Amino acid sequence: MEKAIYPGSFDPITKGHLDIISRTSAIVDHLIVAVLKNPRKQTVFTIEERLEMLRRSTARYPNVEIDFFSGLLIDYVKKNNINIIIKGLRAISDFEFEFQMALVNRKLNPAVETLFMVTNSKYSYLSSSIVKEIASFGGEIKDLVPPEVYDLIIQKFRCA
Ligand code: ADP
Repeated sequence: MEKAIYPGSFDPITKGHLDIISRTSAIVDHLIVAVLKNPRKQTVFTIEERLEMLRRSTARYPNVEIDFFSGLLIDYVKKNNINIIIKGLRAISDFEFEFQMALVNRKLNPAVETLFMVTNSKYSYLSSSIVKEIASFGGEIKDLVPPEVYDLIIQKFRCA
């Protein structure tokens, strides 16, 4: 059984993330989308909000599960018998860091493979930071985020 994990901050989930989730869920048996809970990293959305947005956006994929982790990814991977780590690649700039992480993770646990999913060219410019930047100035983000979470994101920035 191929059990994969797609880790990230998802602050918030974008259509780029969802595209990776959708394509990965079609090729593995089970996919855990795991939100990194890092108290040192400042996020706009709380861990509960990020989990809720992921749950709403992925409800149609029966083999996708939403969870969170803190500490080392490789420890979570071992505890949950995961054999594949999924990373999304948008540009060469993503590659250097992700390449290093993949090698470190292989050193820590040689049984786990990191697989890179190349972005859909439609979303190659898209990141959570871009969504936050546009939303904070009242710009239109409809094409950038899953429809199930649009209102939640807009509300957050209205209240901010
Ligand atoms: P970001 O703020 O860059 O979206 P995340 O930590 O939430 O950061 O990203 C989680 C993972 O999703 C990373 O592997 C990242 O490379 C990937 N990713 C993010 N946006 C996209 C996109 N538009 N296309 C492909 N992969 C993406």
